[in-house]
Amino acid sequence: MVVGDVTTGTDVLVVGAGPAGYVAAIRAGQLDLDVTLVEKDAYGGTCLNYGCIPSKALITATDVAHEASHAEEMGIHADPAVDMAGMIGWKDDVVDQLTGGVEKLCKANGVNLLEGTVTFDDENTARISHSGDGQGSETLEFEHAIVATGSRPIEIPNFSYEDEPVLSSKQALDLDSVPESLVVVGAGYIGMELASVFAKLGTDVTVIEMLDSILPGYDDDLKRPVKQRADDLGIEFEFGYTASEWEDTADGIRVVADPAEDIAADGGAEAEPVESESLELDAEKVLVAVGREPVSDTLDLEAAGVETDDRGFIESDSRARTNVDHIFAVGDVAGEPMLAHKGSAEGQVAAEVIAGEPAAIDHQAMPAVVFTDPEIATIGMTEAEAEEAGFETVVGEFPFRASGRALTTGDSEGFVKIVAEKEDGYVLGAGIVGPEASELIGELGLAIELGATLEDVASTVHAHPTLSESVMEAAENALGHAIHTLNR
Ligand SMILES: Cc1cc2nc3c(=O)[nH]c(=O)nc-3n(C[C@H](O)[C@H](O)[C@H](O)COP(=O)(O)OP(=O)(O)OC[C@H]3O[C@@H](n4cnc5c(N)ncnc54)[C@H](O)[C@@H]3O)c2cc1C
Repeated sequence: MVVGDVTTGTDVLVVGAGPAGYVAAIRAGQLDLDVTLVEKDAYGGTCLNYGCIPSKALITATDVAHEASHAEEMGIHADPAVDMAGMIGWKDDVVDQLTGGVEKLCKANGVNLLEGTVTFDDENTARISHSGDGQGSETLEFEHAIVATGSRPIEIPNFSYEDEPVLSSKQALDLDSVPESLVVVGAGYIGMELASVFAKLGTDVTVIEMLDSILPGYDDDLKRPVKQRADDLGIEFEFGYTASEWEDTADGIRVVADPAEDIAADGGAEAEPVESESLELDAEKVLVAVGREPVSDTLDLEAAGVETDDRGFIESDSRARTNVDHIFAVGDVAGEPMLAHKGSAEGQVAAEVIAGEPAAIDHQAMPAVVFTDPEIATIGMTEAEAEEAGFETVVGEFPFRASGRALTTGDSEGFVKIVAEKEDGYVLGAGIVGPEASELIGELGLAIELGATLEDVASTVHAHPTLSESVMEAAENALGHAIHTLNR
C-alpha cells in the first residue's frame, strides 16, 4: 500500500520515540495536548533497544555466571555453562516487554503514533516518509515540534560497522556466540561496560584508549577500583594509542594501533609510557566505542530555521527551546550529558513549557552512572568543582569494607564520598564506587534537590544492614562523628 500525500495537523509533533521523545509525548498527552509521536525504527529508541537496557541485561547475566564460578569462599563450587543464544533471548524478552509497554503507555495517554522518518519542510510543516508496506509520504502541520532524534555511534576511519568483524555497541549486544578474543577501541563507559561483559564470558579482551586512563572525566579515586577489577578480570589495556586500521588474518583479524599524537592529560595514574612503535593486536572481532554523535543532519533542520553547533548538537535553553521559539530539542541531540534520564527530564520540561507551565531544566542534580564492576555513580559537584565555584567544602567518606551489608554480599570494594558546603553543611555533590552505586546515588540526588544538609542525611535512620547506611556514615564522617570508620 502506498500512502498518498495527505496533509494532517497536530499541536505537538515529537520526532523520535527514545526516552526523551516518548516521555515528552506521554507528558504532552497527560496535559491534554494533541500530540503525534513519529518513530522510524523502534519504540524506546537507543536506550531500550540497543543501549541501557540490553547492556544492563547482559551485565547482570554475565555477573550471575561470573559470581557463581567465583563463589568458593562462600562454599559454592559451580562451573556454569553459558548458552549465548539463551542469554540473548532473555535480553530480547526484557527489551520486548519494555518497548511494548512504551507503545501501550503512549496509546493510553492519547498519543497518536506514526511510523516513518521525519524531515522538515518549513518551521510549521514536516514530511513523514514511510517505508515497507506503508511506503510513500504524508505532510504534517504542527504548532510545536519536539526534536528527540538521539545519537548514533561515531565511526572512525577504516572501521566501518558494515564490515563483519567490526562491531558497534549495538552489534556487540546481539552476538550469537562468544568471541574468543576482542579488541575494544575506547575506554569510555560503553567500552568499559562491554569489556567487562565479554571478559566475564571468557573472551580475551584488550582495550585501546588514546588517553592515559579509563573513563575520562571521572575522578581518579573513583575509577581506581574499576581499573583494578578490570585487571583482575584479565583485561589488557593499551593507553596512548589510536586504532588506525585492521586486516584479515588466517585466524581472524589484526588491529593496528598507532601512538596517539596528543595525549590529553586526564590525571590517570595507570598510563604506561607511550611507545613510539605501532601495535598489532590479533583478535576475532573489534568493538569500536569511541563516543556518539547527534542525529541532526538527516532532518533538514535548515528548512525549519533550527541551528546546530559545530558538533551538530541542537542548542536549546533551560526550557528546551531552540532558536526557533516553538521548536524544542531534547535528549542526546540537544547535547551532553548523553544519558537517558537527562533526555526524559528535558522531554517533560518541553511538554510542560508547551502547555504553558513554568517548567525549566536543572542540571545540578543530574546523576551519571557507569555500570562497570564495581559501579561508579556521581551527582552534583566534585570537591574540585565545588572549590572552583567558590565554596569552602567539607568531605566525608565511608569505605564499603566497613559496611556489614557489603561484606555479606561478598563485594566490599569502594566507598561513598559526600561533598558539602562547610559552614551550613549543604550537600553539594557525591561520588560512589562500589556495590549498587547506581541505586545509592538516588538518595544523594534527593538531598541536593531538597537542599538537605549533612545533618539531615546523618540523622535519617537507615535500615540495618543495608548499603545505604554507608551514605549516612559518609555524612557523619564529614561531621566528624561516623561510628564505623575513623573520623578525620
Ligand atoms: C551501549 C549503550 C549503553 C547505554 N547505557 C546507558 C545507561 O546505562 N544509562 C543512560 O542513562 N544512558 C545510557 N546510554 C545512553 C542512552 O541510550 C541515550 O542517552 C538515550 O537513548 C538518549 O535518548 P534519546 O531519546 O535522546 O535518543 P534515542 O534513544 O537515540 O532515540 C532517538 C529515536 O529517534 C529516532 N529517529 C531519529 N531520527 C528520526 C527521524 N528523522 N524521524 C523519526 N524518528 C527518528 C531513532 O530511530 C530513535 O529511536 C547507553 C547507550 C548505549 C549505546
